[in-house]
Amino acid sequence: MELIHISIVSAIVLLNIIFAVRVVFVDRKNPVNRSFALFTFFVALWLFTDFLCYQFRLAEYQTSINRINLVVVVWLMLSIALFVTLFPRPILRIKNYIWFLVAVYSLLLSSVIIFTNMVVKNAFVESYGSNFNQGSLFVLFAASASVFLIYAMIVLAIKYFRFKDEEKRQVKYILFGIAIFLVFNVVFNLLVPVMTDSFVYGRFGSYSVIFLVGFIAYAILKTHLFNLRVILTETAAVIIDVVLAVQIFTSHSALEGLLRALLAIIVFYGSYLLIRSVREEIKRREELQVLSEELKVANQKLQAIDAMKTEFVSMASHELLTPISAIEGYLSMMLDEKMVKIDDPKAVEYMSRVYKSAKRLARLVADLLNVSRIEEGRLLVEKQDIELEETITSVINELKFKAEAAKVTLESEIPDEARVKIYADPDKIKEVIINLVGNSIKYNHKGGHVKVKAGFLPMTEILENVKRMESICAEENKDVVGEGSIQSAIHEKYREPVGDRQLLISVQDDGIGIEKCDVGRLFKKFSRVGDWSTQETPGTGLGLYISKSLIEMHHGRIWAESEGKDKGSTFHFSLPLYEAKEQVVKLDEEVPKAKDAKPLAKSAVGN
Ligand code: ADP
Repeated sequence: MELIHISIVSAIVLLNIIFAVRVVFVDRKNPVNRSFALFTFFVALWLFTDFLCYQFRLAEYQTSINRINLVVVVWLMLSIALFVTLFPRPILRIKNYIWFLVAVYSLLLSSVIIFTNMVVKNAFVESYGSNFNQGSLFVLFAASASVFLIYAMIVLAIKYFRFKDEEKRQVKYILFGIAIFLVFNVVFNLLVPVMTDSFVYGRFGSYSVIFLVGFIAYAILKTHLFNLRVILTETAAVIIDVVLAVQIFTSHSALEGLLRALLAIIVFYGSYLLIRSVREEIKRREELQVLSEELKVANQKLQAIDAMKTEFVSMASHELLTPISAIEGYLSMMLDEKMVKIDDPKAVEYMSRVYKSAKRLARLVADLLNVSRIEEGRLLVEKQDIELEETITSVINELKFKAEAAKVTLESEIPDEARVKIYADPDKIKEVIINLVGNSIKYNHKGGHVKVKAGFLPMTEILENVKRMESICAEENKDVVGEGSIQSAIHEKYREPVGDRQLLISVQDDGIGIEKCDVGRLFKKFSRVGDWSTQETPGTGLGLYISKSLIEMHHGRIWAESEGKDKGSTFHFSLPLYEAKEQVVKLDEEVPKAKDAKPLAKSAVGN
């Protein structure tokens, strides 16, 4: 039985030393860490003298041992008070001279305890260990130790209520450690003795002080969390090592001793290797953590820069749009023969070229403005009940002349069941259809055909189609310049798919088609694909990116298909059915609304 106690006390004392060394090692100059070391020192000393109090062999020294034990208790309480005052940061400044006076008082009290019989008269041995007769000044000892402890508890309580977040948590750990210590003591020094009428297990109460030390160490090292794993490994290793070492001395024969020593050496070496590897791994992890912290900071900076860029583009394009619109407007009036008469045909030709360029510029600026509004979440979306067919027909009417000029036929095929009501923003849906039909006319040959169709498709198929398109040459397309902005442009609530089935609108052409890999990057920002003939056609590469954002703001999906160059292409987009209106409204309500939201800037998309 005694052997168990020797092992436990040695292990706890050793653990104490490990905790103390670890904590001090983290930051040697820190007064908090130093006061912790002082505290652990007294804990170790207390455990040791407490252990001696139970040694019958030392019966004749028990009076001195008990006195020393009480002295250690005084200093232990004082060290707790000091530590709690400093940790995690002081809230009241106690002047040094006060500490000095308290220390002098404690010294005096210690002398009285040790050198007089006023506190401990004489010790005697009981069945479980030693006990003593109290002297007249024992109350002074009890009061002093209690005052230090009560002070510490009050300070902790104040800190607990005053501190926040991490600091509060740190204080909580200490309170937790104290609670465990108290529970153990109540159980082993009060409940068990009352129930079994014996103090044999009383010592386990004292041993639980290691929880207090452990929790405090954890609280200090919380910010250096990884160190905790080293401590745990070291702790386990040390306990095993100590038990093995003790066993050497309790061997019954030299051979047994030798074998145990051999085993101990092997295990020592093993634990050394284990601790070393854990430390190395932790060091690497800490390095990694530092790196990821740096990366996080860099990423935040990038996001801030990205936001600044978007803001700049927004501001610049807004300022540019007004003069450009004026230029465009006046040029259009000057070219109108009914309003202005210009005799020189050369002048008319030059002016119509300038007019075309102005229109292109206006479109670019409007697109840029819309992209920045989308990315800043400032695009005004006003959904209402509309007839899908009306929207499609009005686009076809608008683009009829353009198609005729390009010698492309334009038709729509909307079956009766698809002539339905939808809940959407008419301007946005129109914008998307104009863009898709406009592209089909633009990227087509003379004599080509463009057809707008409507129907339905199950959600699973819709998502599969999008996935299939996005995975086309994903590796090659990964680094394409103009990939979407760093943050996802559309709020995630918008992107939530709605319904088992959605309405499907497809714009089909037999035009110049799209190369396989290009299909995978069509919807990225500034992405213009195809060969020279496409590049010569005016465009910004923003239309599809904007269309994708607009459709996603309606909980729909957009994707494209093409068999390859000169094999035509089909662009599909889906929209929730009218039945899903309630769900759409609910999801949309969860999207934060910008105060200064603006409608789509007027652009000449499709012209
Ligand atoms: P823009 O037309 O202004 O260049 P878009 O974002 O609308 O920008 O289109 C991106 C690119 O996708 C176009 O430059 C073109 O290469 C390709 N594209 C779009 N629609 C078609 C189509 N119907 N047929 C062939 N290529 C297309």
